[in-house]
Amino acid sequence: MNQLFMPTRVLMGKGCIKENASLFSEFGKKAMIVTGKTSAKKSGALTDVADALKSQAISYEVFDEVENNPNVETCFIGGQKAKDFGAEFVIAIGGGSPMDAAKAVAAYAANDMAAMDIYGTIKNKPLPLLSVPLTAGTGSEVTPYSVLTVKEIENKKSFSHPESFSKIAFLDPTYLESLPRAVLLDTTADALSHALESMLCKRTSDVSNVYAEAALRHLGKLIPNVISGKPDYEKLLFASSLAGMAIAHTGTVVVHSMGYLLTYHKNVPHGRANALLLPGFLKLCAKHVPDRLAPVLDAFGADKVDTLCELITNLVPEPVVLTEDEVNTFAKKAIGAKNVSQNLWPITEDEEASVFSALLQ
Ligand code: NAP
Ligand code: FE
Repeated sequence: MNQLFMPTRVLMGKGCIKENASLFSEFGKKAMIVTGKTSAKKSGALTDVADALKSQAISYEVFDEVENNPNVETCFIGGQKAKDFGAEFVIAIGGGSPMDAAKAVAAYAANDMAAMDIYGTIKNKPLPLLSVPLTAGTGSEVTPYSVLTVKEIENKKSFSHPESFSKIAFLDPTYLESLPRAVLLDTTADALSHALESMLCKRTSDVSNVYAEAALRHLGKLIPNVISGKPDYEKLLFASSLAGMAIAHTGTVVVHSMGYLLTYHKNVPHGRANALLLPGFLKLCAKHVPDRLAPVLDAFGADKVDTLCELITNLVPEPVVLTEDEVNTFAKKAIGAKNVSQNLWPITEDEEASVFSALLQ
């Protein structure tokens, strides 16, 4: 179905928070800031948000306990704190982990529910959310998705709500200057994965392709400079948001659901997990759906699938090794993921195992 739904106002450029401080006052007088341990401070974003809130006489509390790949329990605690404080809106500052956690905090704060009820019907709409991305990768600032770690199922699981889209996303490239190189590489791979998966799934539409193809065109030019150590943060943030807008329309496919297992069981960062699996997935696409792959390669500016796969491999700084047992266990589990049905051909457990097999020693 062709539908365009992108309710997030996206403000871009250096100083965009300070320049638009008055916008915060549209959402109330009390804000809960949701962030990780260090990045909001290191990047300077927390100071800019705090200054903007003070300039509007908005009081705030900071919940800075969000870990990488946030646990559902952590978000629940954040939600209770937001409720106790009487927060009227939530501000996410961080990479995908704090941005996803903030979506859950906003939902818990507006409802009386147990932690796992977030995967059922959410009765009251979540508090309004504003987001400040500190990585260029997840696109979470423009998606309604929140991916949380659930120990009971030994995996990650997402929820979404139409009101979980950020009301405003502030894209300031200066905040990315403090990114460690490994996080930069991992997150760039995530943005690339979003654009590729969005173009290679059943829900691909003319609308989603507008965003995905634009993201790929930018990433094709930007990635060589990321690898050589000369990243253009402003364009990367833009490309990552475009890729986020693409998956907001289509969702992701098996690369993401397979990658969650590498993250949960092998502690592989999210974007890196995608980068490890993409070459195997793209080669299956070349076999099963060559007509769908052609426009992808064209948008990225690659002459053949091997060129794209080689570049993706260059984004992975360290090897990850799996045993045969792990390959088979992960393939068995991943074939049960809900987004498998969105794959362009009926992918089999053996094919998923073949993708994981690239990580055998
Ligand atoms: P992240 O987990 O948010 O952050 C990784 C690390 O980088 C953290 O230690 C963080 O520090 C640090 N960091 C982040 N930005 C920094 C900066 N500007 N300067 C210095 N350090 C910085 O990484 P991510 O890859 O952006 O997010 C991954 C999460 O997003 C996963 O849970 C994934 O499932 C999710 N995701 C969501 C969507 C969606 O649509 N919602 C899509 C894809 C992925 P702190 O600990 O201080 O924060
Ligand atoms: Fe992702």
